[in-house]
Amino acid sequence: MSHPAYRTYSTTVSRVTALSPNFTRITLTGDDLVHFATDGLDQRIKLILPLADGSITDVGQFDEGFNGDWYKRWRLLPDEKRNPIRTYTVRAARPEAREIDVDFVLHGVDGPASAWASGAAEGDALQVVGPDARAAERGGLEWKPGDAGTVLIAGDETAAPAICAIVQSLPADARGEVFVEVPTAADALELEAPAAVRVTWLGRDSAPHGERLTAAVHAWGERRTAPALAEGRSGPAGDETTEEEESDDILWEVPEAASGTEYAWLAGEAGTITSLRRHLVRDLGIDRRSVAFMGYWRTGRAEAS
Ligand SMILES: Cc1cc2nc3c(=O)[nH]c(=O)nc-3n(C[C@H](O)[C@H](O)[C@H](O)COP(=O)(O)OP(=O)(O)OC[C@H]3O[C@@H](n4cnc5c(N)ncnc54)[C@H](O)[C@@H]3O)c2cc1C
Repeated sequence: MSHPAYRTYSTTVSRVTALSPNFTRITLTGDDLVHFATDGLDQRIKLILPLADGSITDVGQFDEGFNGDWYKRWRLLPDEKRNPIRTYTVRAARPEAREIDVDFVLHGVDGPASAWASGAAEGDALQVVGPDARAAERGGLEWKPGDAGTVLIAGDETAAPAICAIVQSLPADARGEVFVEVPTAADALELEAPAAVRVTWLGRDSAPHGERLTAAVHAWGERRTAPALAEGRSGPAGDETTEEEESDDILWEVPEAASGTEYAWLAGEAGTITSLRRHLVRDLGIDRRSVAFMGYWRTGRAEAS
C-alpha cells in the first residue's frame, strides 16, 4: 500500500514547557505518531486548531492525504465550523515514544495558534498534518544547500525552531554565520553548532521588528565583500534579472538544487525577509539559486491557509 507524503495525526498535549519568556514547547502525543517521519531540519507541518468549544470538524482529514478533497471541503465550511489551520515546524520527533515537539512563539491571543498555545494544558486535543515515514516521497523541507560548505542562516523567532534543527544537523566541517532575532535577549535558546559556525542571537527589545536582523546581515555582507574588494576583484555583480521581476508579493522562493559553495537560508516576517533577500541578490551579487527565502508570516495579516 502506498502512503501519501502527509497525513493527519490525532494528538493530545502531554507536556507544556516554557523555554523562555516568549517560547513555549508543546509536546504532543498520539498512537499514530509512531509513523511520524524524523527528517528534522525545517520540516513544516499544519496544525488544525480546535474551535472555541474544543471541537474539530470532521471533513475526512483522516481518510486522505493533505492534498485530498478534505482540504477543499474544509475551505467550504461556514466560519463557525472551519477550524483555523496554521503552519509550524517540527522541532523534534520521537516516533518510538509517539511524541513530537512544537515550539510556539507566544505573540498574544489575537492569532488562534498563539492563543491556543498560550492556554494549552495536558490532554488538550490538536490535529497535526505531518510527514509519514512510510511514504516514498517527502515534502515540506526547504533546506537544500547542495554541496555548499559555507552557510548564512538568518531568521526571526518564528524561524528559530527550524534554525535550531538545521544547525544541529550541520556537518562538523560546516562554516558560516547564523543570526536569529528574538523578542528579548532572554529568548536566546541553547544551541550547539560546529566550531566554524557562529550563532548570534539578537534580542529585539524595543527596536522595530527586523531592524537588528537586517543590520546583522548587512554587516555580514560588508565583511564578506571586503576581501574581494581588497584583492581587486570586482564588487557585487548583481543579478540583473531580479531587479525588475521582484515584487513584494513574492514571499517564498527556494532553489530546488542549490549550486555553488555558499548557501543562504532566510525565513521570518515577510517584509524583512524579502528585503534581506533583495540585499543578498541585488546588492551583494549572490546567485539567487543559492538563496532560499521564506516569508513565514506577515505583519498585520493572519495566515491564509
Ligand atoms: C513553514 C513555516 C514554519 C513555521 N514555524 C513556526 C514555528 O515553529 N513556531 C512559530 O511560533 N511560528 C512558526 N511559523 C509562523 C506561524 O505560522 C505564524 O506566526 C502564524 O501567523 C501564527 O498563527 P496565529 O494563529 O498565532 O496568528 P495569525 O492568525 O496568523 O495572525 C494574527 C495576527 O498576528 C500577527 N502575527 C503572526 N505571527 C506573529 C508573530 N510571531 N509575532 C507577532 N505577530 C504575529 C499577524 O501579522 C496577524 O496580525 C511558521 C510559519 C511557516 C510558514
